[in-house]
Amino acid sequence: MQVPFYTSTREYHDRKAEFDKAIQEVLEKGDFILGSAVSEFENEVKAYTKSKHALGVANGSDALVLASDICELKTGTEVLTPVFTFFASTSCFVRLGAKPNFVDVDEETFLMDLHQAESRITKNTRGILPVHLFTQMVDMTLCMDIAKKHNLSVIEDAAEAFGMEQKYQGEWKAAGCIGDFGVYSFFPTKTLGGYGDGGMITTQSDEYFAKAKSLRVHGTTVKYYHDYVGYNSRLDTLQAAILRVKLQKIDEGIEKRLSHANLYRELLKDIDAIKLPVIKGENKPVYYVFTIKAEKRDALAEYLKNAGVGTSIYYPVPLHLQKCFSDLNHKKGDFPVAEKLCTEVIALPMYPELTKEEIEYTCEKIRAFYKG
Ligand SMILES: *Cc1c(COP(=O)(O)O)cnc(C)c1O
Repeated sequence: MQVPFYTSTREYHDRKAEFDKAIQEVLEKGDFILGSAVSEFENEVKAYTKSKHALGVANGSDALVLASDICELKTGTEVLTPVFTFFASTSCFVRLGAKPNFVDVDEETFLMDLHQAESRITKNTRGILPVHLFTQMVDMTLCMDIAKKHNLSVIEDAAEAFGMEQKYQGEWKAAGCIGDFGVYSFFPTKTLGGYGDGGMITTQSDEYFAKAKSLRVHGTTVKYYHDYVGYNSRLDTLQAAILRVKLQKIDEGIEKRLSHANLYRELLKDIDAIKLPVIKGENKPVYYVFTIKAEKRDALAEYLKNAGVGTSIYYPVPLHLQKCFSDLNHKKGDFPVAEKLCTEVIALPMYPELTKEEIEYTCEKIRAFYKG
């Protein structure tokens, strides 16, 4: 049996007529740049997340850069951010001249350790960038308390968090809708993924929304009149049309991910060499990935590969040890939890179209590896 780590083609074939129709409509209209599908998709994301504003941009990394720019996380400022995340969560403000105040993560949830975060604040710290990683959101009550106390801008990296929610001030809130900005990615593998790149910025502020909208098109509100030195970062109309089709069935997909996660848990629970994902706090989890901690991780990955099961390592190197950040003079041992996780984590196949047989096969192979 071959179990791909990720595939878009099963969903495409299941719903081919709908995708083809959506794509064809854009081709017939020819409104490729900020066409009607973009604003329709923005409105649908607003309704889904209950965000006041949503703005489609070229990708999640750009969304983070635009948000950092508007929050003025630039030269002379510092930003709290976890070391165990995708590169873009840090590069977004480093490219604007800001410096990371790196923070270690919780060994069970893999999320930024907010208690440590507070201890890393310096006189130059102006922002905090919580990353809602893999399955659940950072504790936003604590995060917002720290931000208020120290006057920090909050950019929620919700690139992996479409559909996640958390109880905040007595209400269920969508990821990305609590801080100054939230950021989504529609990279194909994400829970809501397109057939190419795409991203979105959410904000509850009219002023921030207006600025983001202008920065998206070279800092203009009137064509050829530039109020800011902006960017060219628009969500492609074809991607928006595809994402609209996907959004219609997102809840069904999230439910399937949850039931796959439950099956994995059931089949793997008695293997001592493995630690299953831990959900904490008042979170509605979404299984963007199913990441376990595994003894002899690299050998397990190799064994599964030979058995036809795809896996992935998110993330093999913590950010403080990346070559491009060597001028910050961090060394091995500075963030021990993240460093250890980088040697232990492995993500198993997780997408709605995955079958029960494929999960059973994957778990049998994991069991065989540890017995052998
Ligand atoms: C995917 C991802 C991004 C970047 O999104 P792109 O759309 O690929 O640019 C940023 N942060 C995190 C945590 C991600 O997982």
